[in-house]
Amino acid sequence: MARKLKGIAAAPGVAIAPVVHFHPTLDHIPTWKVGPDAVEGERQRFASAVQEVTASLVGIQRELASSIGSHEARIYDAQLAILHDQRFGHDVEQEVRQHGVNLEVALQRVIARYEAVFTAMENPAMRERAADLRDIGRQLVGALTATERGKYTANGRDYLFVADEFLPSDAGLLDRDHLRGIVTAHGGKYSHGAILARSMGIPAVVGVEPIVLDSTTGVEAIVDGDAGIVILDPTPEQRAEYERTMRDQRAVERRVAEVRFQPSVTSDGTRVQLQANVEGVRDLDSLETDAISGIGLFRTEFAFMERRQFPTEDEQVAMYRRAMEGAKGKPVTFRTLDVGGDKPLGYFRMPDERNPVLGWRGIRLALDWPDILYTQMRAILRASALGHARILLPMVTTRSEVVRCREVLDQLKADLRANSVPHDREIEFGVMVEVPVLVSVLSDLLPLVDFVSVGTNDLVQYLLAVDRDNQRVAKMYDPFHPGVLRVLQQIAAAATAADKPASICGEIAGDHWFTPLLLGMGFRELSMAPVFLPRVKLMLRSFTLTECADLAARAIACPSTAAVRKLVKEEIEVRWTRLLGAAEERRQ
Ligand code: PEP
Ligand code: MG
Repeated sequence: MARKLKGIAAAPGVAIAPVVHFHPTLDHIPTWKVGPDAVEGERQRFASAVQEVTASLVGIQRELASSIGSHEARIYDAQLAILHDQRFGHDVEQEVRQHGVNLEVALQRVIARYEAVFTAMENPAMRERAADLRDIGRQLVGALTATERGKYTANGRDYLFVADEFLPSDAGLLDRDHLRGIVTAHGGKYSHGAILARSMGIPAVVGVEPIVLDSTTGVEAIVDGDAGIVILDPTPEQRAEYERTMRDQRAVERRVAEVRFQPSVTSDGTRVQLQANVEGVRDLDSLETDAISGIGLFRTEFAFMERRQFPTEDEQVAMYRRAMEGAKGKPVTFRTLDVGGDKPLGYFRMPDERNPVLGWRGIRLALDWPDILYTQMRAILRASALGHARILLPMVTTRSEVVRCREVLDQLKADLRANSVPHDREIEFGVMVEVPVLVSVLSDLLPLVDFVSVGTNDLVQYLLAVDRDNQRVAKMYDPFHPGVLRVLQQIAAAATAADKPASICGEIAGDHWFTPLLLGMGFRELSMAPVFLPRVKLMLRSFTLTECADLAARAIACPSTAAVRKLVKEEIEVRWTRLLGAAEERRQ
């Protein structure tokens, strides 16, 4: 029977395909019966998962030992000891054998038993072992799931990825050829999972009731990423209606796409730089470089998150070079590692924080572990010899952070020069404006940098005190809040006064309803997921700068978010509808 579920529209488009419920944690694991003749198979799966996790831990340990010292790297000894504990292996095997359960279930049960014992101990050091156990369990299940991933593609047929959440580290493991849609229980429109879905051009709905999603594997579903609706087991009528919608959408997309290679200018001739946000070198394969003026944001952390250990300096150089080759000589803005918050790094031990989004993330973490920053900046510098690279620092809060990073950069450049290693001596250096306090000191900071890039995803979250990842407050996360618009205008004004370029690389840069407002405030560089580029270009080509300035001034003066939205509807959406109509008439 058809069931309609309401969630948050996270990535546009409609998809129809069978569901595969993906279980990446120890709490949600696949379950099946294992007869006596299949026990040996489970034993072998265990052995190879142990081997894989060991290799990963040893790799991390080696990496840490060379970057921060062998003492700290020994924190992984406890996990390796558990992994190779004979008793542990024996107990897991016995669980499979005696109870006829698959390896994942056996692991879950044995770890729960051990954990109960450790947690009850008085000695705090022993109690901590419980966390190591859980972590080992997660890694083993992760290794098993990754090797089993083939079956989640519905045997090479199209599928919908359904899970509690969609993490950046999952992206590298998907069968992208057959992935049609994403549905998750957690997350918001501005979560990194949603950002990734948009950059892959995959429709997504997040924040859907998890209980309903359980045990849905194999059921056909419709994902409506525009309305935030999922229909499980649709009726033939619902299916037919959505198939019509999909045909209409494809027709609109074709019409909008015609504008891609036309000049990026307002109707009265002001040039606007449209750039691409990319999450990894694989995004560059499909990038139409003629349609963009460069890569405005390369989120380097995604490549780090897909791996099982830190990439070495040489591996990073290779990656950054590939990015620059992919950009065909156009500038590439490499943002240094922005982990922490909702972007954990599986192999880097981060503390459990009450408020991770207000905690140890971005440049804060990198400055505490300078080797990470040194290695990355050196790698970017070495790659910069190939063309036009720029360095961008995430989550900057204070002037001292910028000064410190600039010193590191100068020191690295001097070092490279002394060793005759080619690099761009004038490499541009910029900061993200995403921590609100930076806005009020921006004019003091601008002389220290070559450019700024506004990370509205975080800026809005901090300005409104609304977690971008929390579906319960997702409705309150509204970048059309007039307070947000006023802050954006302040940034544009400060950058213009200092004659320093300011781009926007948060998601609103790709939201065509925002385009005239951002131009009207004074922004001339917008960096977005490539999928949004045609819409933004079509929009900006149909407004004069004077119209944009007028609209921005009126929006900023609005007393409420509702009033801004009304203005957008009456002045921008209406124009858009007319534009699409005109394009249709031209075709006929
Ligand atoms: C932002 O915060 O707007 C941004 C571009 O960075 P991220 O989404 O990766 O936090
Ligand atoms: Mg950010």
